[in-house]
Amino acid sequence: MDLDAVRHNVTMLAERAGDAELMVVVKADGYGHGAVQIAKAALEAGASWLGVCSLAEGLRLRAAGIRAPMLSWLDVPETDFAPAVAAGIDISVSSLRELRAVRAASDDLGGVGAHVHLKIDTGLSRNGCPSADWPDLVRAAAAAEAGPHFHVRAVWSHLACADEPGHPSIDQQAERFAAAYSVATEAGLRPMRHLANSAATLTRADLRFDLVRAGIAVYGLNPVPQHEDLIPAMTFASTVVLTKRVAAGESVSYGHTWTAPRDTTLALVPVGYADGVPRGLSGHLRVLLGGRSRPVVGRVCMDQLVVDCGDDPIAAGDRVVLFGTGKEGEQTATEWADQLGTIDYEIVTGMCRPRVARRYLGEDAS
Ligand SMILES: *Cc1c(COP(=O)(O)O)cnc(C)c1O
Repeated sequence: MDLDAVRHNVTMLAERAGDAELMVVVKADGYGHGAVQIAKAALEAGASWLGVCSLAEGLRLRAAGIRAPMLSWLDVPETDFAPAVAAGIDISVSSLRELRAVRAASDDLGGVGAHVHLKIDTGLSRNGCPSADWPDLVRAAAAAEAGPHFHVRAVWSHLACADEPGHPSIDQQAERFAAAYSVATEAGLRPMRHLANSAATLTRADLRFDLVRAGIAVYGLNPVPQHEDLIPAMTFASTVVLTKRVAAGESVSYGHTWTAPRDTTLALVPVGYADGVPRGLSGHLRVLLGGRSRPVVGRVCMDQLVVDCGDDPIAAGDRVVLFGTGKEGEQTATEWADQLGTIDYEIVTGMCRPRVARRYLGEDAS
């Protein structure tokens, strides 16, 4: 994991955010990159907020000594919000039930102030308060704010199609967001607003409001069609453990799906689908080895794969790059995703595996 790349991407996103603050989203253990290290690097580079999915994720960052403002947005109904309130983690509220739970947590703590972000569903139809229930939620929040320990920090929402610039749903969601915000201000609330994810931060200056929430672009993966100056932070690499010559006609790996057309050298690499190399990429993978891009042959197994090296002098101990920035000719997480018909988000978050060791470059920049 290249933390200098993260800092580069964050600096660029903070510029694009203009006057808006930058929240770096580090859910799912920092999209598989390590939430604590990413959060620290991002805060050094100009981010001022952190976003997490669950309270457990947020509390882990607090336990690591990270004090930055933080928002957590999705927890199961039985969650006790008191530890979040005590830890100064803002909580997203989409329903009266959640509002009551946060107030109760604050009361249990003897009135430690709770900060909430009211979430309006503007068309993603996932989390967020439906428009029909919004006036009631806003009224209840305004009543709660009349007390001393409850503060509505923000009104927020999330876009469905920001990665398709020009999609008509974006403007429709923006209009619904404006209407919901008016309801809040008419009820006497003065919250900040946030709507934009990475894609909207890069393409819709008008939707930055007070804060933008960037995830994927922080990690150097570009969610929009146009070119952006982003550097992928994750490189997935391993080492050759064994090489061997095989004769023409010998077949490789389970099912014998590949047969050597000539005498050749094979290199064995100790990573497989248990380490995040999708088996569905069998027959399509190339790795960077010995200064060249070379095909992985036969099936990807649970723990290993085999590279065809021709007559080149490859040896045990040689470094193998599975994906990275693409600059040296290696594949990228985005190419893997395209081949599989998925998105690069799924490739990098899929690297969150106990057997895959993480190393950080640029850790001591501060
Ligand atoms: C994951 C997430 C983001 C970040 O989205 P990216 O497309 O990775 O920038 C922002 N807001 C919410 C609510 C999210 O769940």
